[in-house]
Amino acid sequence: MVKPDGVQRGLVGEIITRFEKKGFKLTGLKLFQCSKDLAEEHYKDLKGKSFFPKLIDYITSGPVVCMAWEGVGVVASARKLIGSTDPLKAEPGTIRGDLAVQIGRNIVHGSDSPENGKCEIGLWFNEAEIV
Ligand code: ATP
Repeated sequence: MVKPDGVQRGLVGEIITRFEKKGFKLTGLKLFQCSKDLAEEHYKDLKGKSFFPKLIDYITSGPVVCMAWEGVGVVASARKLIGSTDPLKAEPGTIRGDLAVQIGRNIVHGSDSPENGKCEIGLWFNEAEIV
């Protein structure tokens, strides 16, 4: 998912290009204004964290671009392409390492396991939106 800051900064094309060039197949794509309820469900594991309210404000601050990607090892590979959560610790060459500086504005989200990937596709997309 391209987060609101990534959309506002015009980085959607660049982020999609990196996944396409790696060799993954796009199976779902939409611009979407996330509700507070959906944001809280998506980040429910972080509910006790001090930054949780700010995270919900951030994710609902503007439209996001939801993407579903398919390919061999796509979840682990996407995490590598995206880079560390804190952009200042992310390696150059990664999306966050090249394009962001703040942990609270880290431009992209990636599922952290194939199981969560399936759950998140179910949360963010209708069945008919996945090709
Ligand atoms: P994501 O789930 O967005 O791909 P992640 O798996 O790399 O990120 P998590 O630890 O799950 O990292 O945190 C989820 C999101 O919460 C981060 O991407 C970031 O936007 C925000 N976040 C995490 N830690 C902090 C923090 N210390 N301060 C502010 N925001 C934070």
